Amino acid sequence: MEEDAKHEIKSLLGGAIPERKVEMEEYIDKYPCNFFRCDDRSRFVIEAGSFGILKFTQRTMHIMWLLGFAYKSLEENKYKELIEAVYELANMSDPTTFSWPNTVPNPKDRRPTDIEGGAVFDLICMAGAYVFLHEIRHIMFCEDKNAPDDPRKEELECDLFARSMMLDKLDIYSKQSGCDSTILKSKRAMGISLALFFMLVVTPPEYWSGTESHPSIAIRIESMIGDLQIPDNDIFWQYAVPLFLSHLKYLNKNTPRIELDSYNRESAMTLVKAIENVANGQRKRAPS
Ligand SMILES: [Zn+2]
Repeated sequence: MEEDAKHEIKSLLGGAIPERKVEMEEYIDKYPCNFFRCDDRSRFVIEAGSFGILKFTQRTMHIMWLLGFAYKSLEENKYKELIEAVYELANMSDPTTFSWPNTVPNPKDRRPTDIEGGAVFDLICMAGAYVFLHEIRHIMFCEDKNAPDDPRKEELECDLFARSMMLDKLDIYSKQSGCDSTILKSKRAMGISLALFFMLVVTPPEYWSGTESHPSIAIRIESMIGDLQIPDNDIFWQYAVPLFLSHLKYLNKNTPRIELDSYNRESAMTLVKAIENVANGQRKRAPS
């Protein structure tokens, strides 16, 4: 049975980006946004189709939840186990029998009560908001019949829309909440990088270099975080760089050596190039 999830997604978006709650609800009401949690199936499902229909599975939400805790698993040297748990959950026939890694709280308990777990929960909500906003932009293009001719350009436009919704009016939220706008920006950027990391993990490496419909993963990551106005000493880089680095190491490729004290924009972009190289290697090995 498909389940209407419009109310739930509105509340996810409003919770993650409070300063644009009204604006986002207006988009959702103006365009024929029909959000459905569809019947369970394997793999990753979040897709906008015709008639404003956006479908996702609860299993996909749980995979996003697991990946939210990837950063924490680095501290405990359990990154490989976590990623293997992601693929196990994605492919198993009955996800109700999945046993949660002991580094990850069960999502049925909702927001963890400890500070670190609560912060991870908030990042997962932001990453979820980014992914849904990306899909909402596809629906808007489709309804307004003004999508770019090149579907790869449309993908980047949808990414940019989601990013600008998350970052462009942060000053308003900073004034409303009394939170420092630099910290708010770092957190939102972490949420964006978690969404990109999710995309990196769920996309098979042979597709990283792009397809007829999607730009390469490296182009998408670079265009989202390459020009963020965030200084090199910001905590954001301490979050994003280890995630991308760990995933490249997980793939056993020639990972560039990056020192802890140089987790910054430059090392992030070095990793993006390394990701591109992995993609090129996979393409060469693929049968023609
Ligand atoms: Zn898309």
